[in-house]
Amino acid sequence: MCFIGFELSHILAACGAKVVILSNEESPLSTFDNELIDSLVQATLKKGIDVRLGFEAHKIDKTETGFSVEAKRNGLRKAYHFDADLVIHSAGRIPAIETLRLSNIGVITNEKKGVEVNEYLQTTAHNHLFALGDVTGNLPFTEIAGYEGGIVAHNILHPKDLRTPDYLATPSVVFTHPKLSSVGKSEAEVKESDIEYEVFSDSFSKAFIQRTQKNDFARYKVIIDKKNRKILGANILGHGAEDLINIFAICIQAEITADKLSNMLMAYPTPSRQAKSFF
Ligand SMILES: Cc1cc2nc3c(=O)[nH]c(=O)nc-3n(C[C@H](O)[C@H](O)[C@H](O)COP(=O)(O)OP(=O)(O)OC[C@H]3O[C@@H](n4cnc5c(N)ncnc54)[C@H](O)[C@@H]3O)c2cc1C
Repeated sequence: MCFIGFELSHILAACGAKVVILSNEESPLSTFDNELIDSLVQATLKKGIDVRLGFEAHKIDKTETGFSVEAKRNGLRKAYHFDADLVIHSAGRIPAIETLRLSNIGVITNEKKGVEVNEYLQTTAHNHLFALGDVTGNLPFTEIAGYEGGIVAHNILHPKDLRTPDYLATPSVVFTHPKLSSVGKSEAEVKESDIEYEVFSDSFSKAFIQRTQKNDFARYKVIIDKKNRKILGANILGHGAEDLINIFAICIQAEITADKLSNMLMAYPTPSRQAKSFF
């Protein structure tokens, strides 16, 4: 995924460090829209960050001055070496459950090495044993851990009225500069479904708010249902994208149509108000 790798790289580059990102993925941040990922990669390169996609790190050696990272281009044998005085592992965290020996009581783990749960967040082995948050290996977000906590609390107290989490409108943000955010269905997902959809996509780097930040890479893509004009998904790259995405999360959760959104009164000039101009 590379969220943290991109975020820390932008911070370190802004502090004057020379940064190399090594990612074994050919296309990083794969839950976001491809066009916006490309724009973020361009923005990252413009900051002088060396982005090596399709490079898998194999080993790290200690040297007299720091570290040497050996990486190989996917599918090739040639090894590349990168000298660094700091190496940051940002390839994700695996739930630390091994020492709990949960398999002794029949609890099983999933392909992400997290605790397998059913739709009520109960472990598959025991109804009264729940798992939530990162340890399930599902969506690793603070908001999700809190949301699932509320559902588990309810389900413990009301075993005859069990609730199920709904992850459809889970917003996520890469805190780079500019920021990248998304919520709802991607264009690829909608394409595979039988929904008739319409895409609104453009650069908005000439928008007032973006110009205050000299942001040349601002882009958006919003997908709506053609029949009822309900918003299905949104991806935003730009200043304020971390807040702007909440407007679309609210619209998806409350089933507010694109037309209703574009006619709402909002404070000008604010990042959230840009949502009105996307249609
Ligand atoms: C660098 C970084 C940046 C992030 N940025 C964001 C962000 O911008 N937005 C966002 O939404 N999410 C972000 N996340 C993810 C977010 O931190 C997690 O999704 C969230 O903390 C999950 O909450 P949790 O309670 O499931 O797990 P945690 O917050 O990891 O809490 C689990 C707790 O359990 C304790 N524990 C572990 N094993 C045991 C044991 N055997 N016995 C007792 N205690 C134990 C741990 O010490 C820890 O305190 C980030 C994560 C990282 C690493």
